[in-house]
Amino acid sequence: MRELVFRRYPNLEWATFAWFGWRETDAGEGGGLIITLASIEPPGPGDLDETVGHVAIDAEYSLRIALAAEKGKLAPAVVHSHPRNCAPVASTIDDDMDCYYGRYFADFAPGRPYISLIFSEIGGRFVVSGRILWRGEWHMVSTAYEDARALEVWRGYPRTARSGSEPPRSRTARLQSAFGEEATRRLRDATVAVIGAGGTGSAAIEVLARAGVGRLVIVDPDDLEESNLERVHGSTPEAATRRLAKVVVARDHVHSIDPSCEVIGVYGALPQSEVIDLVTGANVLVCCTDSHSSRLAISDLSVRYLLPAIDCAVTLEGSAGRVRGQIMQFVRFLPKDPCALCHEMTIPWRVAQELMSDEEKQQRRAAANDAAVRGEAGEGYWRDVPQLDTVGYLTTSAGALVAGYAIGWITGRFEPPFTRLQMNLVAPFFDVTDAMIEPRRDCSCTQVRGWADQASADAYVSAPSHWPPPVLL
Ligand SMILES: [Zn+2]
Ligand SMILES: [Zn+2]
Repeated sequence: MRELVFRRYPNLEWATFAWFGWRETDAGEGGGLIITLASIEPPGPGDLDETVGHVAIDAEYSLRIALAAEKGKLAPAVVHSHPRNCAPVASTIDDDMDCYYGRYFADFAPGRPYISLIFSEIGGRFVVSGRILWRGEWHMVSTAYEDARALEVWRGYPRTARSGSEPPRSRTARLQSAFGEEATRRLRDATVAVIGAGGTGSAAIEVLARAGVGRLVIVDPDDLEESNLERVHGSTPEAATRRLAKVVVARDHVHSIDPSCEVIGVYGALPQSEVIDLVTGANVLVCCTDSHSSRLAISDLSVRYLLPAIDCAVTLEGSAGRVRGQIMQFVRFLPKDPCALCHEMTIPWRVAQELMSDEEKQQRRAAANDAAVRGEAGEGYWRDVPQLDTVGYLTTSAGALVAGYAIGWITGRFEPPFTRLQMNLVAPFFDVTDAMIEPRRDCSCTQVRGWADQASADAYVSAPSHWPPPVLL
């Protein structure tokens, strides 16, 4: 997109139409609208006037987009550039254009947002501004992301009013010297959503809080038990006796590390709609639940809402009194990556079982036992999932690593160099494997990338109705 609209840079403007998905959320003050780039409709020869410096769009190009809008479901957008060192502030011509297109597209495709974005480069920095006509009113774009990195949204001169402009504290001085001066500000301005606040999640949360991440969305439906004390960072015997929610333990621990870190704790789980509202506004999604259903859910969110996500899991394997496997798995979900279905990494019966109510699990288990007594198989389908043992040093290692990759994404310094990596801590050379596959052509993920709520394919997994509604701390 940048390359396209900067085609005549640095002196002349250029533009393109594009399609966006959207989601109206309840999260934040008064809710918000999230828009996601689904595809670009670049201009062909003659679609834009090459002879003028500003953007002049041919009526046929507009009509082509309007007719496509009529047939499709996505929101139309115009994206254009301003010359180098010219602020991305709408000119009178831009005002006229947006007024015109706002009405024009509303005729062809009513009930959808119309989006207008301006890109520019000021003093070597890439900046963006935008406005959206939604339900008859114009709204300014307040935040923008490219992968996990926040793009600079133009707020005009001077830049001193920004929340991240405070001098870095000495606590993150080492991080800053390693990753650059911008790193601290980017982390301070960032939101990371951590799904699961158990062994791995609590370790990730601790690392992120100490790194100075400004805002954490923490999601977990469970209460703390005594058996969690070996792993869960911030847990205490007293909290276990009181059976505090894991999100409460996590929130209090974060505040003991950094009282200025904003924590949004949710006693709930993905893919509940309220939880999706909260996590779609994050820069990065970190999944530490080790459950098949939430792995599917984060993969789905990553595809539809272009959310960079990373999933981790740990497991111990052994026989005859020897521990032969201490395995960590990391899976990267970027918009360019294969999804969980492409990876064939979730087992359908495990997903189904995880989403069952306790009553249904009991019924199925009883029916399966009865069938086994009668010597039959099949009827009353049930499989016992072995309780996976794990230990604190494994969960802490895996959680710390995914937090590190989240920091890499946010600061723009590095990213996970794998798609699905497994390693065994007790095998020679760790027995590292990476499932390097491309997204499968026949997978639904290839059709819904960036489509947000407008994707026609069903979500990979939906929240069962017997789950209690999520509670916000
Ligand atoms: Zn303009
Ligand atoms: Zn796929």
